[in-house]
Amino acid sequence: MAVKPNSIEEEYFAREEALKKQKLAAEQAQKLAEEQKKQLKALHWMHCPKCGMELQTVTFRGVEIDRCFGCNGVWLDEGELEKLASGDEKKGAVVRSILNLFGDSSKK
Ligand SMILES: [Zn+2]
Repeated sequence: MAVKPNSIEEEYFAREEALKKQKLAAEQAQKLAEEQKKQLKALHWMHCPKCGMELQTVTFRGVEIDRCFGCNGVWLDEGELEKLASGDEKKGAVVRSILNLFGDSSKK
């Protein structure tokens, strides 16, 4: 059975429409993911990951560390552990061994 030019055209447009909708759905999914990321950040920002209490910033050896006065946990931002590790050789050794455990990303 020969395919009429008309149906070839119809298929083309159907494919184009499907591609457009697929692209739109991908964009919507990405937008939703970004929105959820924002919401999660707003919900968790400066809150203790263990007990949920608000974290307080305390300056220690020139590094601003986040302290939870609920469970007494201490939280460090990226690069802060490295800052604390530098300087004092003896105390730095323990922190450096922790960094080695995770693979020091600052040494590229
Ligand atoms: Zn806590």
